Amino acid sequence: MAKQPPTNADLADLLAQEAEGQSRILGRAYRRAARSAFLWPETVADILARRGSLLELHGVGPFIARKLTDWVNKPPPLRAQLPPIQRDFLTMADARALLAKKTDWTKRLRGDLQMHTVWSDGSGTVAEMAEAALERAYEYIAITDHSKGLKIAGGINEAQVRQQGREIERANKAIAKKGGGLTVLRSLEMNLNPRGEGDMAAADLSALDIVLGSFHSALRVKDDQTKRYVAALRNPSIQILGHPRGRIYNYRLGLKADWPRVFAEAAKLDKAVEVDCYPDRQDLNLSLLKIARREGVRISLGTDAHHPWQLEFITLGLAAALKAKIPAERIINFLPLGELKMWVASLRQRSNKRKTSES
Ligand SMILES: [Zn+2]
Repeated sequence: MAKQPPTNADLADLLAQEAEGQSRILGRAYRRAARSAFLWPETVADILARRGSLLELHGVGPFIARKLTDWVNKPPPLRAQLPPIQRDFLTMADARALLAKKTDWTKRLRGDLQMHTVWSDGSGTVAEMAEAALERAYEYIAITDHSKGLKIAGGINEAQVRQQGREIERANKAIAKKGGGLTVLRSLEMNLNPRGEGDMAAADLSALDIVLGSFHSALRVKDDQTKRYVAALRNPSIQILGHPRGRIYNYRLGLKADWPRVFAEAAKLDKAVEVDCYPDRQDLNLSLLKIARREGVRISLGTDAHHPWQLEFITLGLAAALKAKIPAERIINFLPLGELKMWVASLRQRSNKRKTSES
């Protein structure tokens, strides 16, 4: 019997293994290609079968293209089990194939709730991200640049957030003038410290349409982090907890927690947990999404796009949510804009009430 050709996920693992023991430059190229395998739109086997070029794939040069071709033509043995740091990642090729059969699911999507611009570490302007969102016929997008505490990613301060707000207002006016149906939301990916505290003034945060909070530090600690998640969820300024685990394919495993408890707390507070759809993050991943579904928590989908073309990463989040059987009404990106805003308003009202009852 002929051996099945390796899938893109198999090829990612072969590339990751090949990186070991190589020179620094070659090792980096293999690792980059391994991560990129999750965003290739078609399987390498299919591309070769139709005599297409692998050089069009992200992260693939002539040397790696030759390796991939050899592996497809003469499949090497695969590891029985992937190391945890590489487990539970969907490939774009599989996600696309799955969603092609479920077009009504994709049609429910109204927007993308995490993306970066030139204001922090993205490469597109607000107008360019909006243009890409209009092409996808979105109803809304949230511009979530990094906040000032994350210096390495060009985080912005309160004054810059206000300045960006004026730019977003101008972008919205220009879109409306052309008859476009898109609203650009003012947002922020606020940096949270391991105590769940943010780095921005509360008054500036409440002026935004929606606020995401994410951890970017102490992501390699090994002990249980339930406490930090509960504290973050209780932070009155945030509505969505971004890339909860902090994992990255073949680089960082991410944090440990009592996930049923974390999601139950989020559900109790009516806050959302994110699927960061970036191919090498996919955080939350499928197995945690299944726990999230059982706890009834709201889910937010965000591409974490740093370039306009990366809005297509949403496919990975849509596929993961579908596979995990998340009910459509739990996905906040499926809400019409008015309802999304009402949800944010209700959370803010709740936290205000709590403040007055405590004082
Ligand atoms: Zn982040």
